[in-house]
Amino acid sequence: MAESAGARILVADDDQSLVRTLSWILKENGYEVITAPGGEGLLVKLEEAKPSLLLLDIMMPKVDGLQLLERLKSDHRFRDLPVLMISSMPPEEATVKALGLGAADFISKPFRVRELLARVEAHIRVGRELAKAREEARSRAAMVDILQEVTDSLKPDEIYHILARRVARVLNISKCSMVLAKAGDEVGVVVAAYENPMLRNLQIELVRYPEIRRALSTGRIVLVEDVATDPLYAEERQRWESDGIKVPTRSAVAIPFWMREQQIGVFFLRTTGDDLPLTQADAQFAETVIKTAVAAIEKAYDFETAVSDKQRLEKLAATDALTGCLNRRALAEALETEIDRARRYTLGLTILLLDIDRFKQINDSRGHITGDSVLRQMGDLLIREARSVDIVARYGGEEFVLVMPETAMQGAAIFADRLRRRVETRDFADPGEDPLHLTVSIGLASFPDERITSADTFVARADQALYRAKNEGRNLVRQ
Ligand code: GH3
Ligand code: MG
Ligand code: MG
Repeated sequence: MAESAGARILVADDDQSLVRTLSWILKENGYEVITAPGGEGLLVKLEEAKPSLLLLDIMMPKVDGLQLLERLKSDHRFRDLPVLMISSMPPEEATVKALGLGAADFISKPFRVRELLARVEAHIRVGRELAKAREEARSRAAMVDILQEVTDSLKPDEIYHILARRVARVLNISKCSMVLAKAGDEVGVVVAAYENPMLRNLQIELVRYPEIRRALSTGRIVLVEDVATDPLYAEERQRWESDGIKVPTRSAVAIPFWMREQQIGVFFLRTTGDDLPLTQADAQFAETVIKTAVAAIEKAYDFETAVSDKQRLEKLAATDALTGCLNRRALAEALETEIDRARRYTLGLTILLLDIDRFKQINDSRGHITGDSVLRQMGDLLIREARSVDIVARYGGEEFVLVMPETAMQGAAIFADRLRRRVETRDFADPGEDPLHLTVSIGLASFPDERITSADTFVARADQALYRAKNEGRNLVRQ
């Protein structure tokens, strides 16, 4: 039996005895054979029967086989169909002509059976490879589209929806969803569904979906070509019957997928009565799409992690370890930016320099640990009191700077005094310790001011005001 046994071959010849002989030989070797006289009827028959190979006689009384071959080969539907020409014409002449017109091969009458079979076999195989290559190219093109869309948008939610949508479109089926679940789970979460773009995180009972459960437990694709007959659905069918449920689903495929070696869930494709049933080829295509997309998503995540690692490091480098406020270096940078902005858009910009009064005494009487705790609390207090656009930085030991964009002196002074009073009334002691009260002195400086040309001169102005506050008795705000 030939390797490609079962393949369908169309024999077109008007020599009835030859057709009979050929048919018999081919059938004996496991092929399916259909026949057609040459001429007009041939194209229709080809379209209907979709054979894997055509055996065509060059010389038929009513039609010219070569002309027919030419017609066939210029029709894109039959471009890849291997055509084996049979002829009693002098081999040289006929071969050259036939091959030039796109025939796959040429066999002269009378032919040797072994040779005929070998060639039939070879051409069917080549034809299949070609069809597969074309299908792969088509899939690849679809895949490139999908991946482009997927990698452009990195939120998992979006990715799930895109995958569901694209696979549904490529396979031309109406129901395609992504279900997150692990082997043994009783509940799965539908995170995306092509048929319902608004759907988010719908819980489903997996006991109703035997193919999903099997895909999860075996880690393999599960194809149910027909839910009405597949044994996997026997129990469900009984339930449908006793509950009087009519199920629209015709076939279903569950394709499990992983990310970073972790089982994530299944891709779940279904067709209803109106669609064509899903085939093994559909399932495989969907699996390829998903595998490639998942790999791309993993790469994208790696990239994102790298980026966020970098951002984390940058943030770390800009942060004061004790209080979580910006450090002095980061303050200088942020303040320069704000000065630029204020200058460009002629906006007000005010900074506040706060220094804890007699902090040294707190350290001396209550210890450094308490001192540290006071600094942390002061940072928290400032962050809490500041607006989201404000910048809070620890400038030095017990000195803090608050940058207030789009704020003029008057407003800042009111804010500063409120802050001063907050500190004055607050107890900074750790739980269980004696009450700890303290005060702060605050200096303000406002831009625009011709003496302020940089972050440094800006802080220097605020420092001069702070010096006055200290000098005039502490627990004061000065500008
Ligand atoms: P003044 O009212 O004039 O500001 O008095 P002061 O004691 O606050 O001023 P001074 O600048 O003399 O002292 C600041 C003290 O802050 C000295 C230092 O030991 C302490 N200090 C600086 N950094 C830290 C810190 O990270 N933790 C603790 N616990 N203390 C710190
Ligand atoms: Mg100080
Ligand atoms: Mg101080």
